[in-house]
Amino acid sequence: MKILNSPKEAIEFRKALNGSIGFVPTMGALHEGHLSLIEKAISENDFVVVSIFVNPTQFLPGEDLDKYPRRLEADFEICKRAGVDAVFTPTAENMYTKDEVLIKAPKIKGYILEGFNRPGHFDGVLQVVNKLFNIIKPAKAYFGKKDAQQLYLIKQMVKNFFFDIEIVECETKREKDGLALSSRNVYLSDEERKRALSISKALKRAAKLSSKTKNIEEIKKEMLDILDVDELQYIAFVDRDFNYINKIKPGDTIILIAAKVGNTRLIDNIWI
Ligand code: AMP
Repeated sequence: MKILNSPKEAIEFRKALNGSIGFVPTMGALHEGHLSLIEKAISENDFVVVSIFVNPTQFLPGEDLDKYPRRLEADFEICKRAGVDAVFTPTAENMYTKDEVLIKAPKIKGYILEGFNRPGHFDGVLQVVNKLFNIIKPAKAYFGKKDAQQLYLIKQMVKNFFFDIEIVECETKREKDGLALSSRNVYLSDEERKRALSISKALKRAAKLSSKTKNIEEIKKEMLDILDVDELQYIAFVDRDFNYINKIKPGDTIILIAAKVGNTRLIDNIWI
């Protein structure tokens, strides 16, 4: 397995490859969720490249950029065992220049929900994914439904900028008890982890209820009864294009939650 430390090395590696590339962008601290994307990519492409880059431009001041878990050696081992061909781990210094050309997330869909609570976050995500796509030039790129709004915006960017890349949507991997896997789960104490579980429970309950009622207020009320978090940032009901909806549309609904448990900000969602 090749380790590519700079865009220059990655571009050279890419040029020498003859075949389709499946690409899995990550911020590292890899878990089974990431691994499921990697395995899917391996089954569908000639070569697979994983990037591990804690992208500073998608963190807001005061967020967890400095303490975000970094476990590069363990991540390399996971990738190697899975059969990844190359891991791209650039530094912020060789990915960014000063005063560079910027990408803006769409004014509405990029600034609601996650974009409202983390203004500018998606500008940074799209900036870095744009760079990564141009460096790796994949045929397919793999993203998790766990970050549903991110997935939607990346698909928009691919459309708007005419990238010749297929975006593959991947299911959310969960612990046995339902907690969505996240690199940030390591921040949770035992007590917080128990309460974090109320997020996936509320979503599961909402999914079950939505087969009986399409009434969002009714569903939301039950979700609020279940939730045991410290700060609920949003419960939202949107269609697959991230338009707010006022009743459940089976096959075209995503219910999303963002909440803080202790100091840890968690997101999760369910697709109805
Ligand atoms: P991250 O390292 O958190 O930026 O995530 C990298 C990719 O893995 C993104 O496309 C995420 O949506 C995806 N991902 C994160 N957690 C999960 C999960 N529990 N199940 C499936 N995919 C996930």
